[in-house]
Amino acid sequence: MRKLLLLPIIILSLISCQNGPKKSAGKIVFASILPLQYFADQITGSLYHSEVMVPPGVGPETYNPTPRQMGEMAKAGAYFANGFLGFEESNVEKFQSINPNLIFVNTSANLDLIHAEGHSHGDLHHEKGIDPHTWSSPEGARIIAKNILDGMVRIDPANKAVFEANYGRLLTRIDSVDAAVTAILTEIPSRTFMVFHPALGYFAREYHLVQLSIEFEGKVPTPRHIQNIVQEATAKKIRNILIQREFDVENAEIIANETGSKIIQIDPLAYDWPREMISLAHKIAGTDKKMIP
Ligand SMILES: [Zn+2]
Repeated sequence: MRKLLLLPIIILSLISCQNGPKKSAGKIVFASILPLQYFADQITGSLYHSEVMVPPGVGPETYNPTPRQMGEMAKAGAYFANGFLGFEESNVEKFQSINPNLIFVNTSANLDLIHAEGHSHGDLHHEKGIDPHTWSSPEGARIIAKNILDGMVRIDPANKAVFEANYGRLLTRIDSVDAAVTAILTEIPSRTFMVFHPALGYFAREYHLVQLSIEFEGKVPTPRHIQNIVQEATAKKIRNILIQREFDVENAEIIANETGSKIIQIDPLAYDWPREMISLAHKIAGTDKKMIP
């Protein structure tokens, strides 16, 4: 919870440090990861150029900003953070020192967070006890969108009406993704799915699914954990192992061989959020076209 409290304080202190009318910090906004960039783009429309911190195919846990990114950061108006990625915390002071007017927005604020403690398939390597994958669910997306809208209105109140109209359209799109995913998941053989890295905790909660993670407490699984997973996967007749492209397939292959299941690539860090959500639903339901022989 520390992070949740910290970020609003940063925002408040940035605002209170400014005297008089806010200077325009340019027409750039930053997002930590591609799905957040997608939501920011939907809300800013053509008014802003966006930059993403973590490039495609790279794991966000220990990312280091490049000099070019820091150069762009100096001109940015807002930074849209997940709120729980390690590199955000370690760089926030650097971002602020290079750009004292930067509004740092925790897009996970007001979200009903999943606490990984006491959660057998927690995601502890990101941030102490909190599952950071808030963007991988329509419920999360709606709150993230609202936080981005509020951030944009703060840095550019003159364009409030434009941002609000764009936000309305984004909500409609999120609702239709939600309806499509619900329909895909209505009749599935098993509500338990297996994933290498537990990136789908919010998705699972929203659609009443059970996420079975190969990674255990953020670490490479022990032989004992692999054995437990194999037993559970066999008992629940799980046919597919979902794995993100950022991860090594070696351990997933051991389990795939022992259970006779197939490895299916997912990309929860993709820019095209609607497409990825629907694709995820198909992969969990076993109705993905690529999976039908
Ligand atoms: Zn993750």
